[in-house]
Amino acid sequence: MSSFENKTVIILGASRGIGAATAYQFAAQGANVVLVARSSKQIEMHAGKINNPQNAKGQALALTADVASYADVRTVIEKTLVIFGSIDYLVNNAGVIEPIARLDESDPEEWSKAIDINIKGVYNGMRAVIPHMKKQGGGVIVNLSSGAANNALEGWSHYCASKAAVKMLTMAGHKEYAEYGIIVVGLSPGTVATDMMSTIKDSGVNPVSQLDWTTHIPPEWPAKAIAFLCTEQGEDFAGTDFSIKTPEGRALVGLKHPSDE
Ligand code: NAD
Repeated sequence: MSSFENKTVIILGASRGIGAATAYQFAAQGANVVLVARSSKQIEMHAGKINNPQNAKGQALALTADVASYADVRTVIEKTLVIFGSIDYLVNNAGVIEPIARLDESDPEEWSKAIDINIKGVYNGMRAVIPHMKKQGGGVIVNLSSGAANNALEGWSHYCASKAAVKMLTMAGHKEYAEYGIIVVGLSPGTVATDMMSTIKDSGVNPVSQLDWTTHIPPEWPAKAIAFLCTEQGEDFAGTDFSIKTPEGRALVGLKHPSDE
């Protein structure tokens, strides 16, 4: 396991699921971790656990912010720089699946809110951290992608459109900042057993909701993949969506599915 000692990661959307698992993964590898979500209770609980010296090497800080607000995200970047002095990795993980509805039945305001979080949230993170990473001479930005970036699914027009846009933000970030040593990379994790997946299952809409729960991977798997993408080996995937849906992708991260032989 690579060491992230003296490195700092910000995880946007860290209260539960993939984001929380990523916080524990980086802390276990020695990083200082900034956990961000809209409300404080869960992120403070995770930060408290990480700050118990028996559990992890890194230090944790919980900061509230709505990723849909550029001012909020910029404040997170500024506070992190004051407290930890640098930002080496940014994980744009915050995302929502609601409102699950066909286009003609969707609520325009709710649809728009999902876009504000899933697309503008990622833009806000990139916009706020890139000037610092340029000055620093490098850094890694991991954007959470999805198979929905490439495939239309019933009831998910907002989600599919937003993940396709995130994929393009990854490509655009790579095109503009590779020359500054900044790696911008996406992760397509497959289906993961989180609150978001429960919401999908409860909706009963489209084939993803029908999948057996046992087919979903635990959030610790994408957390490991995100940490992998922040190592030198991850550089090979800059500007693309790295996937752990394939045996090859999983093998690189050190993950093994029962079907991998
Ligand atoms: P989740 O619902 O369990 O967690 C989402 C996190 O985002 C939470 O911490 C929540 O507080 C935070 N968040 C939501 N809106 C926010 C906002 N406006 N400001 C700040 N934080 C906000 O979801 P998850 O399954 O852990 O998904 C994490 C990411 O991975 C998402 O971007 C999702 O689209 C992506 N993803 C998930 C799956 C899956 O199967 N679960 C598959 C592919 C991609």
